[in-house]
Amino acid sequence: MTRTMTRAVHNGAVASSAPAGWVSCPGCGWLLYRKRLERNLSVCPECDHHLQLGARARIELLVDPGSFSETTFAPAPRDPLDFTDLRRYPERLREAAQRSGESEAVVVGTARIGGADVVLAVMDFGFLGGSMGLEVGGRVSGAAGLALDLGLPLVTVCASGGARMQEGVFSLFQMARVSESFARLREAGLLTVCVLTDPTYGGVSASFATLGSILVGERGAHVGFAGPRVVQETIRTTLPAGFQTAEFLLGHGLVDRVETRAEIRPLLARLIALHAPRPDVEPPPTVRRPVPPTRLDPWEVVRMARMTERPTAVDYLRTVFDDFVELHGDRAFADDPALVGGVASIGGRSVVVLGQEKGHTVGERVARNFGMPHPEGYRKAMRLLGHAETYGLPVITLVDTPGAHPGPEAEERGQSHAIAEIIMRSSRLRVPVIAVVTGEGGSGGALALCTSDRLLVLENAYLSVISPEGCAAILWRTATAAPAAARAMRLGATHLQATGIATAVVPEPPGGAHTDPAAAADALREALLADLAELSALDVDALLEARARRLARIGGDGALFHASGPTSLQRS
Ligand SMILES: [Zn+2]
Repeated sequence: MTRTMTRAVHNGAVASSAPAGWVSCPGCGWLLYRKRLERNLSVCPECDHHLQLGARARIELLVDPGSFSETTFAPAPRDPLDFTDLRRYPERLREAAQRSGESEAVVVGTARIGGADVVLAVMDFGFLGGSMGLEVGGRVSGAAGLALDLGLPLVTVCASGGARMQEGVFSLFQMARVSESFARLREAGLLTVCVLTDPTYGGVSASFATLGSILVGERGAHVGFAGPRVVQETIRTTLPAGFQTAEFLLGHGLVDRVETRAEIRPLLARLIALHAPRPDVEPPPTVRRPVPPTRLDPWEVVRMARMTERPTAVDYLRTVFDDFVELHGDRAFADDPALVGGVASIGGRSVVVLGQEKGHTVGERVARNFGMPHPEGYRKAMRLLGHAETYGLPVITLVDTPGAHPGPEAEERGQSHAIAEIIMRSSRLRVPVIAVVTGEGGSGGALALCTSDRLLVLENAYLSVISPEGCAAILWRTATAAPAAARAMRLGATHLQATGIATAVVPEPPGGAHTDPAAAADALREALLADLAELSALDVDALLEARARRLARIGGDGALFHASGPTSLQRS
């Protein structure tokens, strides 16, 4: 609450110093003509500072014109403690209502965003700092109940200093009340998106504001549990620049995205469309292209799979899929750029995609840690597997990694456990899982994304228990024997398909995927559409049973270890 009051006073002081019709920007101090500022969505044209917005202005900005219809609920007790500080609480409520034009700190209703129906709950910081007492708790859980009754997504816009002191312990328990209502939405598979605006703190940030399936921070918004002054006074040190900003949260894996005010509405429309229930449609006719036998030597396959020009996960996300919204972070520690994930659409179906990303240029490869994920990367993937299950979305993984990151910090954060958990989770995930090895499939770090119903391997890709160099160094006692090790381990798509480990080989253009990335993407898209159509027709029990059978069969009956290679695309 300290922070809330400081800001309110600060803003009041700023407003009073500006002449009528003008606003002083809290970011840069410039005097801005109010009408021009409002035309610019209340974003300072000088410094890009996003000024606070009242609930009505926010709603107008987010929804299709004229589509908002307010919902009212039975009112909660207004002053349960008969509370008086320097003034009586009912007086403060009356004054807040007069100043903000609202009856409480949150406005609830139904609306359309991008043509889709949603339930909306938008907080107003101008009403007692957006604090949550009985009435706010009642309205927010009422909004969740309405979404549940109507089977609609719930979008909340948060701005709050935290729990309302004047309602004491009743306020505190609103955290539990609203959280329970969000749990019901998750159980029902209804999308919840929380937009975190400046400021969101305390009992609101530690309840529904961060319980949305997707969290979007507005640029520059301050979001945290304890206000910066409390943190600073507790640890008696200076806080880093940008502490608790939306960008800080993104860097620490705590929100999915940070957007400017203008970008939020189109993003919401895409997210709602990607999570909309899909009407049953006839699966498209599936195309299966014959794959000519690969003549490449296993060591040549290794070299081809590692080429920096080869298309990466980010390339395929652009070319194979029709739309893709990246979702960031493990919600606990960081966002790992070596493992990208999000929600995509392909041929009219929505899916969750996870992919190891190497980058192409030296700068990109360093930034992506050469496609070697840390534990937080696998934990982000775990989180998105849960997202896929909640919303019934099939999962597609794109595998291309030398291996999981082998470093002390990865060990400290539990690399083994992160990999083990994701393998176990995907082995029983209640939606179809299709893995695609697009390049290097290095050891356990690759297998983390390979526990699947179908395993597609690009013609010049491979999966290996250890790098050929590593194998050569240990068994041949020299890394120069890597080509011999690659041959001995039979690396490459041919062996993977002959043994039934791969369910299909995806053909590449002559000379490799990098010579014609568009053709490579077309072939992958066709293969994915065919598998998605087949797997989506299965019920969950049949799917899980077949997945278990597939794992049990590997290396057992029917594995043709010495087959010379397929002549056409065959399926196990
Ligand atoms: Zn400014």
